[in-house]
Amino acid sequence: MIGDMQNWTPNVAGIIEHAKKVHPKTEIISRLVSGEIHRSNYEEVCIRSRKLASVLIKDGYKEGDVLATLALNTYRHLEMYYGISGMGAITHTLNFRLHPEQAVYIINHAEDKIIFVETPFIPILEAIQDQIPNVEKFIVLCEENELPETSLKNAVSYEEYIKDGDENYTWPTLKDDAACGLCYTSGTTGNPKGVLYSHKSNVIHAQAALTAMTISPDDSILMVVPLFHVLAWGIPYFGPMLGLKLVMPGMQMEGEPLYELIEKEDITLAFGVPTIWMGLLAYCRENNKILSSVKNTIIGGSALSLATLQEFDEVHDVNVIHAWGMTEMSPMGTTNIPTPEMENMSKEEKYAVQLKQGRPIYGVELKVVDDAGNELPHDGESQGHLLVRGPWILQKYFKSDKDAVDSNGWFDTGDISVLDEDGYMTIKDRAKDVIKSGGEWISSIDLENAAFGHPEVAEACVVGIPHPKWDERPMLFIVTNSGEPIEKQSIIDFLSDKVAKWWLPDEIIFLKELPHGATGKLQKFELREEYNNHYMEK
Ligand code: AMP
Repeated sequence: MIGDMQNWTPNVAGIIEHAKKVHPKTEIISRLVSGEIHRSNYEEVCIRSRKLASVLIKDGYKEGDVLATLALNTYRHLEMYYGISGMGAITHTLNFRLHPEQAVYIINHAEDKIIFVETPFIPILEAIQDQIPNVEKFIVLCEENELPETSLKNAVSYEEYIKDGDENYTWPTLKDDAACGLCYTSGTTGNPKGVLYSHKSNVIHAQAALTAMTISPDDSILMVVPLFHVLAWGIPYFGPMLGLKLVMPGMQMEGEPLYELIEKEDITLAFGVPTIWMGLLAYCRENNKILSSVKNTIIGGSALSLATLQEFDEVHDVNVIHAWGMTEMSPMGTTNIPTPEMENMSKEEKYAVQLKQGRPIYGVELKVVDDAGNELPHDGESQGHLLVRGPWILQKYFKSDKDAVDSNGWFDTGDISVLDEDGYMTIKDRAKDVIKSGGEWISSIDLENAAFGHPEVAEACVVGIPHPKWDERPMLFIVTNSGEPIEKQSIIDFLSDKVAKWWLPDEIIFLKELPHGATGKLQKFELREEYNNHYMEK
């Protein structure tokens, strides 16, 4: 017997319609490319999304077409999220930091028909235009009178394009599991792979995410996480669901402009990756500034370090919530929200818990297995491959004819983790980055975090390099605050009481900067390649 409840085939546009009805005047604030602050609200964003959708249909676009954005975090990008997906097409978010070759591959693989482009990124597309023949039209995200000279085919300004759109357009009822958004993984080897989210997975993910963070309806959110990367962690959907004020920084993500925006807009909750917060904290430190309005920050994308956690807590009185996820998971998997037990813990005990990546959100199942696929105990010690399963986790990659999951639906995240008896998950490494020394594992993340606590260290990266005796030994790469090398021994002394003696790096190399990929993650393989023979030659 099946239930008697109504059939539900969601369209994400229902979210912005809800926000228009219930929170019409709640503000959407964006810093434009010019630096100017633009103020919109849910009512305006909804009406302009309807206009965009109606124009796309009039222009011949239809359900299932893939339309891309190469855009910053601004109100227009939010409108595209709803206008494109809501009429049944697929919003494909492109990352403007991609290498041109990868951008060409992705645009052709996705068969993008339109690219909506922010003015500073026009040259990126002009340079590859000849290699992306399927793109019929470029819509430039600017006012009619701001359209720059460009060789881009059929270029038109966004404002002119939507000008005659229908403000009263009604959204279609879509098929069950209709595709909604497309995002490619930042894959460091091989071609990037697409993850095609559905309306249903996005709606369920957003609802679940709301339960797994410290969000209240009067929060004012700083959305530093880019709209081009994993649907900005679901904020564009759960923000309007709850009527949260959204503040988007556009192009300016350095410490000073972020600080100004936070103070001016009374930000209470900020979402971002560790590198962005490191810039903000450094700015505050150097200029004696305090983040006065922020209560919570949600940090994910890379491991949170003790030094960052401590500075947020002790200097700014900001509670840090560590979160973990990935493109293939829409992205939220685990969050580390405060528990009643934490209130009775000492600072050190509390920090130790907060540094874990958190507990699974209801809907996500986790397990850790050994190399042979046997499930490992939740004892806080047994580390292995982290597998996940759930309704907002992919089944297969875009256009692939085979599943990305095993016969029981488990997806191998490529992360090496431990689970403990309280349900917390801690990431130890990426499987491809683990360091095996004398048959034992060294966690590059733990070692990096320890090094990062050194007062002179701005960034740290640990890589396993082949070694004639130990198989692999860690090599530590450091960028100092001043950019100049410091005494290696001072780093070793600093690490000595924080990690086991055999974990201490055999070599420390000072660099001016570390290699980062398009989404800000460390590209360890580049360092591994460059220093591959270092210990062998000694
Ligand atoms: P992406 O698909 O680009 O978002 O990358 C996902 C990967 O980023 C995960 O599989 C992890 O390796 C890493 N990652 C994400 N969040 C965290 C975190 N909080 N701590 C450590 N690694 C993380």
